[in-house]
Amino acid sequence: MAIQRPKGTQDLLPGTVEQWQYLEETMRCVCREYGYDEIRTPMFEATELFQRGVGQTTDIVKKEMYTFLDKGDRSMTLRPELTASVCRAYVENKLYGQPQPIKLFYIGPMFRYERPQSGRFRQFHQFGVEVLGADQAVVDAEVISLVWDLYKRLGLTKLEVHVNSVGCPVCRPKHRVQLQEFLTTRRDGLCKDCLDRFDRNPLRILDCKNPACQAATIGAPTTRDTLCEDCSTHFEKVLAFLEAAGVVCRVNPRLVRGLDYYTKTAFEVMVEEIGAQSAICGGGRYDGLVEEIGGPPTPGFGFAMGMERILAALQVQHKLPEEKPRVFAMLIALGEKAQIEGFSLMSALRTQSIPVSMDLLNRSLKAQLKAADRQGARYALILGEQELEEKVLLIRDLTLGEQNQVPLSKAVEEIKKMYQRGVNA
Ligand code: ATP
Ligand code: MG
Repeated sequence: MAIQRPKGTQDLLPGTVEQWQYLEETMRCVCREYGYDEIRTPMFEATELFQRGVGQTTDIVKKEMYTFLDKGDRSMTLRPELTASVCRAYVENKLYGQPQPIKLFYIGPMFRYERPQSGRFRQFHQFGVEVLGADQAVVDAEVISLVWDLYKRLGLTKLEVHVNSVGCPVCRPKHRVQLQEFLTTRRDGLCKDCLDRFDRNPLRILDCKNPACQAATIGAPTTRDTLCEDCSTHFEKVLAFLEAAGVVCRVNPRLVRGLDYYTKTAFEVMVEEIGAQSAICGGGRYDGLVEEIGGPPTPGFGFAMGMERILAALQVQHKLPEEKPRVFAMLIALGEKAQIEGFSLMSALRTQSIPVSMDLLNRSLKAQLKAADRQGARYALILGEQELEEKVLLIRDLTLGEQNQVPLSKAVEEIKKMYQRGVNA
């Protein structure tokens, strides 16, 4: 039997790849405008980085990591997300010694051993941003408005931005006690995972997707009720900045992020119409993370966005660019001599950065014209035996059906002019 790709992975073929390029270019463009620089870190890291940086109690670390021993018996893990890696790179490369904050973005594949379904893959792609070294509320707002602007630029609609504050090590213990008290009498309704979370990390019970757990937590005390003064002021400021930037968001007191290192602001973006996996972006503040992985105390704020889900949303909302760029001209050379002459012409045109291609199968005129049409070429450059003898090139406008001849010696110059007119039109 033929070998197939691993479950939960995708081959991105021409036709689809152009959509990815469009999305990536738009992301890079927005980041450039906001003054964020790209970072690229390894596809795999020491397993301990994710155990510490993502958190032992999270689903990611408990169930979803691709972990293996390398030939030197070191435990390695394919990156399931990038915040921990970016923080490691920040510490390892002493970026804390440079002027702060450090504003970074990344685009790339992540790996999680999950049950594949619509919107859920084992290799998927995230675009994300991390700001390290600034704890001001304006940072949170700037990053959220970057997300907002990106969606506007992509033309995405029907989305909801939810924000909340999950507090900090000062005020969260108080909430934890209140939540545990509230849930004591409702324990029977909780799923097995949540019973496990009850002592270890009860906050995450609010995050459980299980309907029974959601029902059991209706009316539960929220982190917002117990925020300390610092967290509360911070949150009010974030909301004020977001309003000033025109970001439409909803305070959702039930929003808690699944990761252990989140402090203060948490946010999530949901989009309608793409099915059950409607979360397209999640992020927040993580003031404890850099220290957790062995660096100096450093505040951080960031998000990760699922690119497959953004593309799915763009698809249903008909917001993807329709066509791939067309080739400007197809060279149709007939006969061996013409092919050599044509190949030389094509190489001259390519030196001038004019997009042109040529039949590689030595087919008939009819077949080549058909191919030119299929590729959406604007012009056919025809070079047959007769043209070769007369030292001319036949240029046929495939849209208008007109054609004219130019001396072969002037062909490059002529085609270049036509191309520039087209580009400037
Ligand atoms: P979910 O609740 O969908 O499992 P998550 O909390 O695990 O999401 P994060 O770790 O915050 O997600 O990752 C940020 C974004 O990455 C998500 O909002 C989602 O768009 C995307 N994402 C996460 N896991 C997958 C996956 N297995 N396949 C595709 N996209 C994913
Ligand atoms: Mg998940």
